[in-house]
Amino acid sequence: MRLTRLYVDAPLDPGGLLELPADAAAHVARVLRARDGDPVVLFNGDGREFESRIETVRGMRVAVAIGAAHAIARESPIALTLLQCLPRGDRMDWIVQKATELGVARIVPLVSRRSVVKLSATQAESKVAHWRAIAVAACEQSGRNRVPTIDAPRGLDEHLGAIGAAGMRFVFDPDASPQAAPAARADAAAPTALDFAIGPEGGFEPQELDGLRIAGFHGVRLGPRILRTETAALAALVWLQTRFGDLRGA
Ligand code: SAM
Repeated sequence: MRLTRLYVDAPLDPGGLLELPADAAAHVARVLRARDGDPVVLFNGDGREFESRIETVRGMRVAVAIGAAHAIARESPIALTLLQCLPRGDRMDWIVQKATELGVARIVPLVSRRSVVKLSATQAESKVAHWRAIAVAACEQSGRNRVPTIDAPRGLDEHLGAIGAAGMRFVFDPDASPQAAPAARADAAAPTALDFAIGPEGGFEPQELDGLRIAGFHGVRLGPRILRTETAALAALVWLQTRFGDLRGA
């Protein structure tokens, strides 16, 4: 039986007792129907997980006895940042979930010139909270003990204007030369940090691709077919993890 894993946004001290926050307690009591003494794993995103036990379930109130901490390495050796131009509808939810499972460290939602989705500041704030909850649930499910960062949405030009110098960078582009850029070759040294950009449904404009190249992004083509933006994000992530990360040799 798989152990229940619960994220809590609180300091965790082995030997201590924690009253679960209302939403986590309701999930444990009502959905999981947990009982006193049931084992549970807690994590708070600091990289460790805590072997714990339900102390008491009283109505919707749940107390957990925090047990031993274990630092378990399930993070990618590369700090992968997905620069994702906002797709329509709820496709970003799907991208956040799958990218978290596949080990992304940070997601930056971008608005580019052909982006259809425009968010007000209030909408952006509630979207980020929603995507963060999806990332937390994906960490609970996939065993990750670090939750990826999800930035506030911003313009592509604004992001490139503030980007630092470190790490390897790729822009996924169906019109990139099929000849792999030197940095993308299988024998290239694995970086410690890697940013990769995926365009919106209508793709990047040529000036945006120029801006990305000037900022050090190498163009990569994922085969001869045009993928939907959400398919491209996942295919790119698997390609990167296979070439440089923790799917290498899998
Ligand atoms: N007509 C658009 C174009 O030519 O860019 C198609 C855009 S595609 C639906 C959305 C995004 O997914 C692209 O901007 C790119 O980042 C990525 N993408 C889709 N297919 C790809 C491929 N075969 N190679 C690399 N990137 C791809």
